[in-house]
Amino acid sequence: CVLGPALNGVVISRYGQQADIENEQGELVRCDMRRTINSIVAGDKVIWHEVQSDGGAQGVIEAVQERDSVLTRPDFYDGVKPVAANIEQVVILSSILPELSWQIIDRYLVAVEQMGATPVIVINKIDLLDAQQQTQIQTIANYYQSIGYPVYLLSVKTQQGFDTIADILQDKVSIVVGQSGVGKSSLVNKLLPDTNATTGDVSDVSGLGMHTTTVAKLYHLPTGGDLIDSPGVREFALWHLSAEEIFDGFIEFAQYRAQCKFRDCKHLDDPKCGLKAAVEQGLILPSRLENYHKILLSIAENKPAHSKHY
Ligand code: GDP
Repeated sequence: CVLGPALNGVVISRYGQQADIENEQGELVRCDMRRTINSIVAGDKVIWHEVQSDGGAQGVIEAVQERDSVLTRPDFYDGVKPVAANIEQVVILSSILPELSWQIIDRYLVAVEQMGATPVIVINKIDLLDAQQQTQIQTIANYYQSIGYPVYLLSVKTQQGFDTIADILQDKVSIVVGQSGVGKSSLVNKLLPDTNATTGDVSDVSGLGMHTTTVAKLYHLPTGGDLIDSPGVREFALWHLSAEEIFDGFIEFAQYRAQCKFRDCKHLDDPKCGLKAAVEQGLILPSRLENYHKILLSIAENKPAHSKHY
């Protein structure tokens, strides 16, 4: 085996002890991994060498660059396991059907803030909304916009708003997350018409016969930008977050905490709470404070069982 010079690459997908990377010329290269590397996922930036081997691999990954962000999932053995790396933007998809839950959106926002990525809220299936529902959603959306979270309205069905979504994905590495039934597959299929991103790739790298992989994979969008996708990527878990991280995930709260009379204020029924005062003055949306407490409670309840997905 002959080593070439050190090269840069981006991991497209990991398959067992090998990974497909894209080199700087945009070509796909199947690589083995040095045993010292303990984790490689889609989106990782790597240093690699070309090799001439009979093992099928065309390269060897020597090192993984430090990650700007990492999406993890709970793992029975390791606590958490990385799923994808260097995600810049998270599209939080929701829709009136099955239910438009701002509490779930808030949960995702906390997780995205913790990840160090930029969240974008997208409300799908607007073709199903009557005028009153549309106004209600717009009022809440205005609040989220005011604290710095863009909200877009979309109908994958009628294509209304689709071009805007394609635009916000340009030049970024994004993922799409959301509850079951909100339209993630429909959106991803529309964004990636020529792949089978949502059905999973069939591979035989395990040597155990054909199976459908659920590993995350990085796709180049024909309209520009990259999308990392897999069934695992579309789920998020909050179970490993601390109370302080959840507080930090409600980004507008910090500025009002200084007004709390007590340093250990729980913002629940404590007297002279800065956050409750802000709610009363119409500065914080009431549901945001309610959702903060609900999320805290659910985390406390689920902590020992560390396997809660939603
Ligand atoms: P996922 O579970 O999040 O991947 O959701 P799917 O993409 O499977 O969509 C769930 C259902 O919603 C399917 O029956 C879709 O046809 C439907 N759907 C998706 N987008 C829209 C939309 O914009 N409008 C309407 N009316 N239905 C939609």
